[in-house]
Amino acid sequence: MCRYRQVQNTYSRCGHIIREPDELIPCADRFCKFSAYHPADCGPNCAKTCWQYRQFPEQYHPLINNVCPNCYRAGLR
Ligand SMILES: [Zn+2]
Ligand SMILES: [Zn+2]
Ligand SMILES: [Zn+2]
Repeated sequence: MCRYRQVQNTYSRCGHIIREPDELIPCADRFCKFSAYHPADCGPNCAKTCWQYRQFPEQYHPLINNVCPNCYRAGLR
């Protein structure tokens, strides 16, 4: 089922942490209300047969061996 990915980059060369906008990762599950494969006319049992809410977000915290974009723009490299 669909979930959000929360990306938070840590830049090791300046120590700044930058949170990216949440990314929606869609699924291809017929039994997920948010999926593109879920029929619009799923029927009255939709609440029982299908996922009605998204999964807990996936946390993605990569460590990037560089300075952050702000520091890069400020000329600190
Ligand atoms: Zn889904
Ligand atoms: Zn449904
Ligand atoms: Zn920085």
